[in-house]
Amino acid sequence: MIGIIFGPPGSGKGTQAARLEKEMRIHHLSTGDILRGEVAKGSGLGQEVGRIMAAGDLVPDDLIVDVVRARLPEAEEGAGALLDGFPRTEAQARALDAMLHDEGHKVDFVVALNVPEKLLVDRLLHRAQVEGRTDDTRDVIAERMREYHKLTEAVLDHYRKQGIKISHVEGTGSPDEVFDRVHAALSGISSR
Ligand code: ADP
Repeated sequence: MIGIIFGPPGSGKGTQAARLEKEMRIHHLSTGDILRGEVAKGSGLGQEVGRIMAAGDLVPDDLIVDVVRARLPEAEEGAGALLDGFPRTEAQARALDAMLHDEGHKVDFVVALNVPEKLLVDRLLHRAQVEGRTDDTRDVIAERMREYHKLTEAVLDHYRKQGIKISHVEGTGSPDEVFDRVHAALSGISSR
């Protein structure tokens, strides 16, 4: 099973993905976490992407596609993988389709979290104080939102056109409330 958790920055993808990982025993693959790990290690990749991420821009497609290609086979073992933060452009979505096609797999479900922009910004500014993520400043948040609208939203159309089920879930309220909604939206799919 391959799932995608989709939504703008601050929509709670990582929080919900961690819960789904436990519940569905599906591997949570977060490209943001992987890249932050590389930056923290100071690896070649980390040095290449650090400044891009700090500015709120997307790292180049070929680079992130290579990262996912290297990790996907292991993540798919067992019950499958839940992708968080990928694909973020239509080119990435096409590259993912090709990778999965080669293995006889496909995207089985997409969960899209909807949260009003004002609340997203509040959450990210709050996270800046709690976690100290360097890309959670007002200017950088604004740039990440722009990138989301300019490049990432199109990913939903990509899957819609393919007839893949997209479950739209209200991402407001507590993490527990959102999880109940995500769970209800996926109950038909996971029992298939
Ligand atoms: P958020 O969803 O809160 O913006 P993430 O942790 O998913 O944060 O990603 C943080 C940053 O990592 C992005 O702003 C971007 O610079 C980079 N990044 C993560 N995933 C991708 C991707 N699929 N394509 C391009 N850049 C990515």
